[in-house]
Amino acid sequence: MAQIIDGKAFAAKVRGQVADHVAQLRADHGIKPGLAVVLVGEDPASQVYVKSKGKMTVEVGMTSVEHRLPADTPEDTLLSLIAELNADAEIHGILVQLPLPDHLDSDLVINSIDPAKDVDGFHISNVGLLGTGQDAMVPCTPLGCLMMLRDYHGSLSGMDAVVVGRSNIVGKPMAQLLLGDSCTVTIAHSRTKDLAAVVKRADIVVAAVGRAEMVPGDWIKPGATVIDVGINRIPAPEKGDGKTRLVGDVHYESCAEVAGAITPVPGGVGPMTIACLLANTLTACCRANGLPAPEGLTA
Ligand code: NAP
Repeated sequence: MAQIIDGKAFAAKVRGQVADHVAQLRADHGIKPGLAVVLVGEDPASQVYVKSKGKMTVEVGMTSVEHRLPADTPEDTLLSLIAELNADAEIHGILVQLPLPDHLDSDLVINSIDPAKDVDGFHISNVGLLGTGQDAMVPCTPLGCLMMLRDYHGSLSGMDAVVVGRSNIVGKPMAQLLLGDSCTVTIAHSRTKDLAAVVKRADIVVAAVGRAEMVPGDWIKPGATVIDVGINRIPAPEKGDGKTRLVGDVHYESCAEVAGAITPVPGGVGPMTIACLLANTLTACCRANGLPAPEGLTA
């Protein structure tokens, strides 16, 4: 059976490291990192994420600011708020919770954030910096996957990595990060021919598809490391009428029989995403103050 990569425990460790750095920053320089989260509308899942981001931000000793705007907020109002946050010296990270209501242009909004404060790493400047191997703000979910892979393997150099999914928030930046660590990277997607054979040659499989349990164990090379980014809710009649449970994009039981290591869902990649958001806010704060970024918490 595969070794389980415990993302929940690893994320707690990362948050502890962030908290230590924050305490040091305050003691040595009198600086307190600040994260502003902007939520437009009342999407229930987004509200849960924003609440838990705020709680964990405070727990590591940072300032947490939340701006909750009504769903019909005009674009100009949102852009003015972002301009204010860009100019606020106490705020080092700005996150606009996605998805935004349909009348708002997400690209325009994200690209209005100061790239140095773009802790989600979605601004085109950060995408370009990452793509050219320069210091960037790196999207949190792929950064969390990279940290877990480095922790488990040490060097990733020369490994064959297959990323299933080519989204801007997970698949593409994940592939860039693996390339940066000298993996040989393949990005697969819905038009990939013979996906099973492509996945089968990978030493590292990152599944970011959004399809429940799509990758079965017989696609996995024996001993490979499987990172499951997917979060899918499926019916769980065994738990009672109308009950559901969370599963990933890989079929956990069959993959765990073949893989060398695997992340569970829940408790794998998910907890690392907020931990990396905090790490990115700390990095942004250090850079804004001309201090070196904390080691081990960036790409
Ligand atoms: P997305 O934007 O919907 O992208 C999904 C990707 O999967 C697309 O590139 C799509 O290919 C590809 N795909 C779809 N069906 C496929 C198939 N049958 N075979 C091969 N590839 C296929 O999703 P995302 O935002 O990247 O998210 C992916 C998953 O990760 C979701 O379950 C999401 O909930 C989860 N997620 C988790 C976290 C976390 O914190 N753990 C964070 C973000 C996302 P095409 O481009 O060809 O359509």
